[in-house]
Amino acid sequence: MDHPKFVIEASEAESMAKSSGLTLKQLLPSLVKSAQTLARTPISNFNVGAVGVGPSGRIYFGVNLEFPGLPLHHTVHGEQFLVTNLFINGETHLDYLAVSAAPCGHCRQFLQEIRGAPDIRILITSDENPDFTPLPKFLSHRFGPHDLLPHDTPLLLEQRHNGLSFSGETHNPSPTGFVCINNGYHPNEKLKFAALEAANKSHAPYSGSPSGIALIDSDGKIYKGSYMESAAYNPSIGPVQAALVAYVAGGGGDYEKIVGAVLVEKEAAVVRQELTAKLLLQSISSQ
Ligand SMILES: [Zn+2]
Repeated sequence: MDHPKFVIEASEAESMAKSSGLTLKQLLPSLVKSAQTLARTPISNFNVGAVGVGPSGRIYFGVNLEFPGLPLHHTVHGEQFLVTNLFINGETHLDYLAVSAAPCGHCRQFLQEIRGAPDIRILITSDENPDFTPLPKFLSHRFGPHDLLPHDTPLLLEQRHNGLSFSGETHNPSPTGFVCINNGYHPNEKLKFAALEAANKSHAPYSGSPSGIALIDSDGKIYKGSYMESAAYNPSIGPVQAALVAYVAGGGGDYEKIVGAVLVEKEAAVVRQELTAKLLLQSISSQ
């Protein structure tokens, strides 16, 4: 069965735009309503759809995800989902974003993690006269990565390798541990290494505590999520949330289908994910 698409390939996006007589950026607002139908909002029933395009010409969807039984700060916002989707697919920038409602302050802040953030242009489809407006109009006096990091530190959508490995555990000053974060599941090597790969891609320059999670569903399909930090800390996205974005975007169905999960993080990290990750996964899989 086909699953809803969260990425539209560049060639398809181009032909969609052409057949509607639109440019690529003009096509984005017309896709927002269909993105909204993919949101998972059991608490608010307020579906957010975010549709963006990057330098590759691919179009990406983002939606909000809510988790009953957990505090609201575990929620993934539509724009955060979109940025995670860009990250998963190796997109290096977000050029244009069309979204169904005004981005909240938290998301305006999270977008600062992208290099060249002031060049991101945002259109709100619910506005009376929607038009693409540069991000600095939404957040003028910004606090961002350059307030805390050297200028050449890789930012959110830029490539990095955090140098974590399982092999050097006895010699490495920061041993990397893995934990199976759901009871009774015995992870195979593939799942462990998928989590390691996600941890090595993790954007954690503020705490120096990269981490990654790999989920496996009952069909044996693996979904990876990398922890992504924000200069303002609170808008950071945990590895479980990132993996759930991969799960939803990758056609994963109900969360009950998730049968196993592995977390990789440094054993002596300042920021640890294990307890929160367990809480979140146990909570959603017991719904
Ligand atoms: Zn938001």
